[in-house]
Order: sequence, then C-alpha cells, then structure tokens
Amino acid sequence: MKLKSISQFLNVQKPILISGPCSAETEEQTIATAKQIAATGKVHALRAGIWKPRTRPGQYEGAGDVGLQWLVSAKKETGLPITTEVANAAHVEAALKAGVDILWIGARTTVNPFSVQEVADSLKGVDIPVMVKNPVNPDLELWIGALERLSKAGITTMAAIHRGFSSSEKGPFRNLPMWDIAIELKTRFPELEIICDPSHISGNRDLIAFISQKALDLDMAGLMIESHINPDAAWSDAKQQVTPSVLGKIVSELVVRKPDSENKTFKDTLGLLREQIDHLDDEIMQKMAARMKISEKIGQYKKENNVTILQVNRWEEIIKTRVALCKAMGLDEGFTRDLLRLVHHESIQVQEKVMNKTEVKV
Ligand code: PEP
Ligand code: MN
Repeated sequence: MKLKSISQFLNVQKPILISGPCSAETEEQTIATAKQIAATGKVHALRAGIWKPRTRPGQYEGAGDVGLQWLVSAKKETGLPITTEVANAAHVEAALKAGVDILWIGARTTVNPFSVQEVADSLKGVDIPVMVKNPVNPDLELWIGALERLSKAGITTMAAIHRGFSSSEKGPFRNLPMWDIAIELKTRFPELEIICDPSHISGNRDLIAFISQKALDLDMAGLMIESHINPDAAWSDAKQQVTPSVLGKIVSELVVRKPDSENKTFKDTLGLLREQIDHLDDEIMQKMAARMKISEKIGQYKKENNVTILQVNRWEEIIKTRVALCKAMGLDEGFTRDLLRLVHHESIQVQEKVMNKTEVKV
C-alpha cells in the first residue's frame, strides 16, 4: 500500500486531535460545539456523525443529508476541516458533494467487505483522505483488507482508527482495547498513522484521559475524542462525551513523549539495557528449547507405557507452584498464567507429535 499521512494532509504536528459530537443533532449544537472546541486551540478537525449506525432501531439515526450543511457551516465559522462517517455509496456521494474534507468508515462497516467495497468503488477517481476504524471483531486481516480495498480504488491518504473490539466480557471498557492488534498493525504498516478513539473504547468519559495517555505512549499518531456542548443530553453516546472545556483540560494534561531521542547518554544507557534484555532473551529461549526436549522424552516414555499426555493434577500443580513463585518475584499473575498456558500448550503439541507422529498444529 502506498500511503500519505493524515497529519501531512492536515499539516499539523502529531498528536493529531479530531473532536466533535458523536452525532450532529441540530445546526445550533453542531456549530456551538465546533466553535467551543476550536476555541481550545487544540483541535485539528471537526468530527460529527450524520448517518448513525445504531445497535437497535428506534434510536436517533442521524440528521441525514441536511446535517452535512451544518458541518459545512461549522467549517465556515471555525476554519476546522470536517470529517464524517460513510457506510455506502449514497453517503459518499452526498459527503463529496457537500465538500467534506475527510471520510471515515465505521467499525460496523469495516466488518463487512461488501460495504467497504461499495464505499471504495464509489471513491474511484477521488483522492479524498479516508480513516478506517477497526472492525467490531478483533480481526486484524479484516481491518487491513478494508485499507487495501481503498488503496486499490486509488485512495492514497489513509489512517486507521483504533476504537476497540466488542466483547461479552463485562469489564471497565465498552470495547476492549486489545492494544496488541493495533501494535501489530503498526508493525506491519509503519507508514500508516493510527488514531486512537478513546471515547468508543471507554464508553465512559472518566476513562478517556487514561486511554488517551496510553495511546500516546504507544506512539499513536493522534486521538479522536467525542465532545458535546451538553454531553448528558446527547442523542447518542451520552456517557462517553465530554464538554469542549473538559476536552481542553484532558488534552493539556497529556504527556507527549517523543518516539526516540538523539541524546548520546540516553542512547548509550538504552543500548546497555537492551544488551541485557538480549542476553536474557537468549537464556530464556535456550531454557525453553531444553524444556521442550524433555517434553519430547516424556512423550516417548508415556507412549512406551501407554499413558495419556495430559495429567490434570500435574498441570494444576505446575500452575499453583509457578504462580506462587512468580508472585513472590513480583511478576503479574495474569502474565504468569498466560505464559504457562502457552508453554503447556506447546509441550502437549511436542508430546502429541512423538505419540501420534502428527504434524497438525491446533
Ligand atoms: C462513532 O464514531 O460515533 C461511531 C459510530 O463509532 P464506531 O464506528 O466506532 O462504533
Ligand atoms: Mn459515537
């Protein structure tokens, strides 16, 4: 994929800040929100949903085409470039006609290749910047697939928006951040800017600052934060929206760290610490290889004695003793359990191979 960045398009220093209401509700609300966020001096583009993908029917589904004119007026009043969500060819046509500067594809659209292809096809010959939210399910290939469909249609300026993933887990977040997926996307496409959407990850305004800081510390290129002149009265996503003044406060308290430093002492010290890490990683891997060799022998021995691979008691014993030991050494319990599960899984695979001469990885 050939990519130009949204920060270049907007001609701003990272982190980029996009803000505005979840939905454009009325002309007054759209323009007042735009004016107040512009007055913070921190926002680079105005967002507002015009066509809203709601989970249940009967909820506010957006102002439709008329709302585009409110966005255009807000741009005239503030000078802020405008961005909205498109989900089909009719949306694209209306948004282009109105003069929207940047489009985005929502999470519930990214999940459907037919819809993404329809949007991509309707953009042929128009090189407008497009931001692609992650699909609602944690499927990196689907996210990349959407970006590729747009790229093939000739879109060159793109960004990804990380807005978290649906889950039945009842945790503190509306959508699980699953940062690893965003990190993997960044690793695969270093040129692609990723903008974090802490509002849809949090679902709750109290967590926005925390998620925003974490995103910046993971070197994300910017933030998309929902704001509203009267959040509690918002017609969609009321709990997660903040007033423009709270937005200004959150943003001014964020610590923006640089991705690297040219400072010699920093580089030398980091180099030494990384040498230690490299050395320890070598040791861990050697020990791991030695451990698997023993698993292989155990597999052979169990085979000769016609004994099953799994002995639940032994597995429980391993978990209990290792978790206690690692806890005493200050390691996180969740991490220890995850690591043990991975090692145990591989050990079973190795024994399975010896016992049944199979190559199938499950
Ligand atoms: C939105 O940005 O208001 C929205 C509908 O988000 P998502 O596509 O992330 O659900
Ligand atoms: Mn929203």
